[in-house]
Amino acid sequence: MKILMYSVRDDEESAIKAWATKNKVQVDTNELEFHPDTAQLVNGYDGVVIQQRSAIGGDATFYQQLVAAGLTQLTSRTAGVDTIDLPAAKAAGLTVTNVPAYSPNSVAEMAVTQTMRLIRNLELFDSRVSQQNFQWAGLQAREIRSLTVGIIGAGRIGGTVAKLFHGLGAKVIAYDVVRHADLEPVLTYVDSKEALLRQADVVTLHVDLNATSEALIDAAALKLMKSDAFIINASRGPVIVTAALVAALKAGEIAGAALDTVEGEAALFNQNHQGEVLQDPLIAQLMQMPNVILTPHIGFYTNLAVQNMVEISLNDVVTILNGGQTEHAC
Ligand code: NAD
Repeated sequence: MKILMYSVRDDEESAIKAWATKNKVQVDTNELEFHPDTAQLVNGYDGVVIQQRSAIGGDATFYQQLVAAGLTQLTSRTAGVDTIDLPAAKAAGLTVTNVPAYSPNSVAEMAVTQTMRLIRNLELFDSRVSQQNFQWAGLQAREIRSLTVGIIGAGRIGGTVAKLFHGLGAKVIAYDVVRHADLEPVLTYVDSKEALLRQADVVTLHVDLNATSEALIDAAALKLMKSDAFIINASRGPVIVTAALVAALKAGEIAGAALDTVEGEAALFNQNHQGEVLQDPLIAQLMQMPNVILTPHIGFYTNLAVQNMVEISLNDVVTILNGGQTEHAC
């Protein structure tokens, strides 16, 4: 059995080698994204694993060519499979799989970390100290047990966020279109997004991106938040209307933000643009704001998450190639 993995980073190699040795399967890697012009590399392989931000491209015949080349599956070692034309892949006869829950803790711990940074005013202290100003005035912190944390989207990641904040002593409230009874010991559901925004000292977003969650946080939503509240987005950029967020921060409608995802991130994140003038005016403005923390979509980027993405995806390929079924078929 031979498997080819695309878009492999150096930090994935050790997990791939360990899996290949343990399972006695040949796994070869490359750094390329999977597109019609790089897909010929799969010739001679039984299985393929991809991971990319850009769409595969091509039309329905491309997926038919993959089947003609002997592939039966297309596995993405990510949660999202929006890079793949699912109807075309399925119609061609490919089984598409993803890794829906490689480590909810990876992103949940990011949200907790950013909350801690914001409520302790660490960005503002860093800025003062860098200018040799060691004063405390105006930057008293609030303790976590004095705060109400509002989670919008209490699914796998949001539910883990709720457990972590509950453990730290915060009051946790949540708004979700679906209620999970197993979370009720650690959170209180509210009936609307608006109720959550009015009550929360920290709003943290963990919805999946869909028609109902795009622009979920717009100018009207931001106006409902307390003026000393923070917002955290480690879900998907388009969940917040960035222009509205920039305006709300400038007007002092909210106290600060931590963004691990932002509209337009694909042109910047995980790339080095040192020395360039940033072309995205809204991201450039966010970067100038001392009460905004911008990180380049690193919520998932932990030891256990990366290992799970590699192992779960490769296990699924073997299962499918051996004629079995996986619960991760999309
Ligand atoms: P999930 O499907 O388990 O949970 C999403 C929850 O959001 C569900 O409970 C759903 O009912 C709820 N929801 C959807 N639309 C809603 C709406 N309009 N209003 C209220 N609730 C709504 O997903 P998950 O695995 O917990 O992932 C959550 C998000 O985290 C996704 O957007 C994913 O893309 C993102 N993510 C980010 C990173 C990162 O590195 N920052 C890594 C992994 C996942």
